[in-house]
Amino acid sequence: MALANKYRPKSFSEVIGQDNAVLALRNIIKNQNFHNGYIFSGTRGVGKTTLGRLFTKALNCTNYDFENGDTCNVCSNCEAIQKNANLDLIEIDAASRRGIDDMREMLESVQYRPSQGKYKVYLIDEVHMLTTESFNALLKTLEEPPNHVIFMMATTETHKIPKTIVSRCLQFNLKLVTDELIKKNINKIFKEENVSSDDKSIDLLVELAKGSVRDSLTLSDQAISHCDGNLTEESISKLHGVLDLSSTTKLFDAIFQNDVATVVEELKRYKSLDVNYEILFDRSLGFLHEKIINSTLSGDHTTQDLHLYYQFFSNGLVDAKHTDKTKDCFDISVLRCLTFSDEAKSGSKKKSKLKETKITKSQANSEEKDNQKKEIIFNEESEENFKEPIEEKKLTPTNWLEVFDKTDLVGPSRAFFSNLQLQKVEEDTIYFVGAEMFADRINGENVQNLIDSLKRLNFPEYKVEIESTEKAKNTPSSKWEQQRKKDIEKFKKEIINSELLANLKNNYGEDIDEDKIIVIDHEE
Ligand SMILES: [Zn+2]
Repeated sequence: MALANKYRPKSFSEVIGQDNAVLALRNIIKNQNFHNGYIFSGTRGVGKTTLGRLFTKALNCTNYDFENGDTCNVCSNCEAIQKNANLDLIEIDAASRRGIDDMREMLESVQYRPSQGKYKVYLIDEVHMLTTESFNALLKTLEEPPNHVIFMMATTETHKIPKTIVSRCLQFNLKLVTDELIKKNINKIFKEENVSSDDKSIDLLVELAKGSVRDSLTLSDQAISHCDGNLTEESISKLHGVLDLSSTTKLFDAIFQNDVATVVEELKRYKSLDVNYEILFDRSLGFLHEKIINSTLSGDHTTQDLHLYYQFFSNGLVDAKHTDKTKDCFDISVLRCLTFSDEAKSGSKKKSKLKETKITKSQANSEEKDNQKKEIIFNEESEENFKEPIEEKKLTPTNWLEVFDKTDLVGPSRAFFSNLQLQKVEEDTIYFVGAEMFADRINGENVQNLIDSLKRLNFPEYKVEIESTEKAKNTPSSKWEQQRKKDIEKFKKEIINSELLANLKNNYGEDIDEDKIIVIDHEE
């Protein structure tokens, strides 16, 4: 027997991850306060029809425990529902029986009393598939149903159900089940089934299930028969074309360093392993999401690159869904990041610097584990600042912007000074001007951070004077903004010249109004 069937919840207390809906259903029964219709919405495998059946069971259970809010599971009604043999529960799959004739046939039986229990329940799965005519017929009955009739509807797409129907029903929006709960559930079941598994193999199953309990059990079934009851990370990875988690870190390390050779090698490797590109998209977006949050918190200015990378991957995923060419779209997203970092960074000194990093990194690689890589790169960059002597030992308004990018200032100090204009440097004093909101907030600690940071770049120990002014010009922050605008324009051009738009043009003969393409800038 399939695990998903064997371990389908038999009572409310066994339902996983839908506490709110379960509590509400228990209260409805406790207070005997019924609606004529109920809609259970949510993605596949989160328990829509399961809850519908449990609710039916609870409505008709002759020994229902009002105190604890659960069915007895032994009375004849409970048993009949468990065996799918209850005459008062009529289940219809609207995906295959959507027409008006099917609907009429079903509604004809509405007038007859229930045969065993108190209520006759119509459970319509995929209800959004019904035709307009069928919905109209259903609506008529929903408006004035006999007292003994209750409609339950399950759908993955509530927005396709007519408002007139929705407004007559009580709706439960079921959530995706958390990875934690799914993992706990799999562990429990594997224990009962005497399945041996390593922890990582279960993590992979959880990741693949994407919040669906049913999928997690179907995947487990498949894994158990494939691995002959002994699940390992390696066998599950192979079975589902999933790479180990460190692959994503490796790919992005290479992207961040503009290491084209490694990136291309990785993409080739993915292809040869026939990997699951959907999972790769998920992981890449997850990875960037976490990076963006961390770098925003630390005031790191590379955030803008990360935002663009995120955009490349999320656009790639959208393209993938439209074209079914998930692999190509993934490759393009990765290569876009490379093109971007290449052009954005050329012209600055970063390129030669990157080469140097790469050598140290590959040496480090052989000794260090993947999860330490991130740290290594950061360390290298700051070390490099020591190594690379700055030619100009004197700060000037001209070199300030470039020097500022090299400082290791973080947090508020970085934020404040990036909004100031370096007006002049006289003897050993730097004179800054800036808007009050920045100039007046800078404290002694911020100033000391700047002085120390400049010293680490081999500048002399400066004194700092700050005056507030109406408007500051040529600040690092204004420079970044200009760069950003350029990047966005460039990105827009890339979209305009992309294959996707060319396809639209060729296939539909539509011209693209370039002014109407809006790039949403999440930083603004
Ligand atoms: Zn019962």
